[in-house]
Amino acid sequence: MTALCWFRTDLRILDNPALSAALQSGPAYGVFVLAPEQWRIHQDAPAKIHFWWRTLENLVPELERIGVALKFLRVKTWQEVPDALSNLCQTLQVDTVHCNREHGLYERRRDQSTYKTLALSGIDLVGHDGNTLLPPGTVKTGNDDYYRVFTPFSKACRTKLKAALATHLTPLSHLPAQALPEPMVADVLSIHWPESEAAMGLSDEQRKNLTQWWPAHSEDVSARLDAFTQEPINQYKALRDLPAQPGTSQLSPYLASGLVSARMCLYKALKNNSVDIEKTVEGVHTWVNEILWREFYQHLLHGYPKLSMHKPLRDDTLGIVWRDEPEEFKAWCEGKTGIPIVDAAMRQLVSLGWMHNRLRMIVAMFLTKNLLIDWHKGETFFMQHLIDGDLAANNGGWQWSASTGADSAPYFRIFNPVSQSAKFDPEGVFIKQWLPELASLDNASIHDPSPLQRQSLNYPLAIVDLKSSRVRAIETFKKHLKSSL
Ligand SMILES: Cc1cc2nc3c(=O)[nH]c(=O)nc-3n(C[C@H](O)[C@H](O)[C@H](O)COP(=O)(O)OP(=O)(O)OC[C@H]3O[C@@H](n4cnc5c(N)ncnc54)[C@H](O)[C@@H]3O)c2cc1C
Repeated sequence: MTALCWFRTDLRILDNPALSAALQSGPAYGVFVLAPEQWRIHQDAPAKIHFWWRTLENLVPELERIGVALKFLRVKTWQEVPDALSNLCQTLQVDTVHCNREHGLYERRRDQSTYKTLALSGIDLVGHDGNTLLPPGTVKTGNDDYYRVFTPFSKACRTKLKAALATHLTPLSHLPAQALPEPMVADVLSIHWPESEAAMGLSDEQRKNLTQWWPAHSEDVSARLDAFTQEPINQYKALRDLPAQPGTSQLSPYLASGLVSARMCLYKALKNNSVDIEKTVEGVHTWVNEILWREFYQHLLHGYPKLSMHKPLRDDTLGIVWRDEPEEFKAWCEGKTGIPIVDAAMRQLVSLGWMHNRLRMIVAMFLTKNLLIDWHKGETFFMQHLIDGDLAANNGGWQWSASTGADSAPYFRIFNPVSQSAKFDPEGVFIKQWLPELASLDNASIHDPSPLQRQSLNYPLAIVDLKSSRVRAIETFKKHLKSSL
């Protein structure tokens, strides 16, 4: 009998517990489920689907080299997965399916019904923990609750990881090479693809840019991770908030697709700098904290199923009356708000499928506070464009900015986007890159051009007054929170 590795958000060979387990007892197949209707329901961005497709194209021959043939199942939605997978297992005479657990509510429901359906045919579905550093549910407070505050969560993780690192991270297992038996032939991905590619509507130019900016081979990501953790990581604390600098790792699409594991990131960060998880040096400590923010949101997604239903984590923020202003929302989406840093950031998102973290916070807070527009709208727009779109991190980031989530920004601490711009892009280098129409402005006016400058450069007036809209947001939150006491 043969095992099957069901690939999901873990499109890698190295440090993949499900794949290792599938190979343990001999030859194995791999499977990836193509579900275009499900991608649409989840608002997955064309840039992301394109990236995943490129990753899969590279994974097929890599898997073949270790004797694993990757099959593709095409379904509309996850409802069809249990039967489709059961049929495939019977055709291939598979008795065990291995997968790495996913933590969203609908992913868990899909897996539960798959487990039941497979069991009817005597096939076992075995879950592993390959997507997080520690299994969600194993890092809890003394009251057995999920942590809702990041700092104690991160401390608890560091303590647990110190012990775990010694056992299951070093050395990272390389998989045994196996001969590819004759009948195990991988599917040719291209025969499945054109239909969904046509639906994505990416232009040739966009595809070219995305392919250049985000190479999708395991060797590319290994090189990126090694390069970042050897040198730039030491400057991370100083540079990570400056969008004009390449100060962050830009590994998020790889972590979101699982082309690299969080464990691998942690391992390289510590090993390349010869440091201990509890005594790391400044840059490494700060970067590891970001990996732990990812972990924090994954654990919360597991602990609070309502997050998968896009409900606020804080019940007392339910019912806040958001403004319904389609024209303002449209201006935000199109990068035409008249606030240069916001507009530059939104144009970066639409063009690269990625946005710098500082800018994600600025644009999210501008939408949810200055414009007082429902965070769900921003969350969806981000998912529709992000190459690294990830429910846990995206929902977490939006709820942080909207003050509705775990350890989120207090509602009265509202970023002023113009001050943020002057602080983090002082010479307007980032703004000028994405808003070339403002290239002639000096450092003093680039963050908030005068009405005359705007007119001559054909740049719009700000769609909202920052001071009065700040007061409006604080009053709205204050009133609502008082009435929900
Ligand atoms: C409104 C909003 C929406 C976001 N949506 C997403 C999303 O859909 N997908 C996503 O991966 N990240 C999201 N983030 C988090 C963060 O902005 C990105 O992970 C980061 O910008 C990616 O760049 P990097 O790889 O260079 O990060 P680095 O600074 O190098 O950090 C390393 C890794 O740590 C993780 N990470 C860093 N910051 C965070 C964070 N605040 N929350 C969770 N994980 C983090 C990411 O996996 C990242 O690749 C969002 C943040 C906000 C404020």
